[in-house]
Amino acid sequence: SRVDLIPVIGSTNQHWMASLAELNNGDICVAECQTAGRGRRGRPWISPFGGQLIMSMYWRLEQGMAAAMGLSLVVGIAAVEALETQGFTGVELKWPNDLYLNGRKLAGILVEMSGTAGGPCQLVIGMGLNLLLPQSEQERITQPWAELSELEAVTDRNGLVIALSQQLQRSLELFEQEGIAAFREQWNRLDYFNGKPVRVLMGDQEIHGIARGIDSQGALLLELESGKIKRYLGGEISLRSN
Ligand code: ATP
Repeated sequence: SRVDLIPVIGSTNQHWMASLAELNNGDICVAECQTAGRGRRGRPWISPFGGQLIMSMYWRLEQGMAAAMGLSLVVGIAAVEALETQGFTGVELKWPNDLYLNGRKLAGILVEMSGTAGGPCQLVIGMGLNLLLPQSEQERITQPWAELSELEAVTDRNGLVIALSQQLQRSLELFEQEGIAAFREQWNRLDYFNGKPVRVLMGDQEIHGIARGIDSQGALLLELESGKIKRYLGGEISLRSN
């Protein structure tokens, strides 16, 4: 499969989204530094030279866009599993797909897609994983963050890229066969917020409750004060601790 290794790039997702026609499942693009890294809704993603593992993978999803929500959860789970194989334990997940270490953001995942309703869709799955951020960049990050160097294990970046891309491919294949239901138990085990008081932000609305993991479709479950369970599937939703 194809591997593009690029020292400095705008964003690996952008590069792969512009190359869709040439790509096959599992092809990856890895960069040392992004000058225009982005999170959801265009928010800046800080990815300075040498401080982060930055990679994007191409995947064609036969089930189409409707399945992509569940897929983004699977990507997070696969990343945690890959880290575990490399000796990095204790990494958790924040719905829908951030990696958390000790309650702080260790990595961001951004899934972008192209396709039409009803047909298959083409996905670019991007990940930025903090390894050791230069001091000068740290203050640019607007929320609590973490880096892999906080853990004891030795970081072998090439080994990590291989582990991540292999685990991603395995998990995506399982997801295509069995859907998100096959991952639910594992998600609920790794979910940092499970059982904790949270706020769900939707536009200027803010809903308080206790996070209760996900259901068999991958929807976020929120237990309201009344005891009623509310579910959130996709959309522009942000989860925050309360
Ligand atoms: P949401 O909960 O809606 O996903 P978010 O703010 O966590 O929100 P993203 O849009 O995925 O999510 O990521 C962008 C945000 O991540 C930035 O606004 C910044 O606060 C934070 N951020 C940027 N760079 C880094 C980094 N290297 N490490 C950790 N966090 C970062």
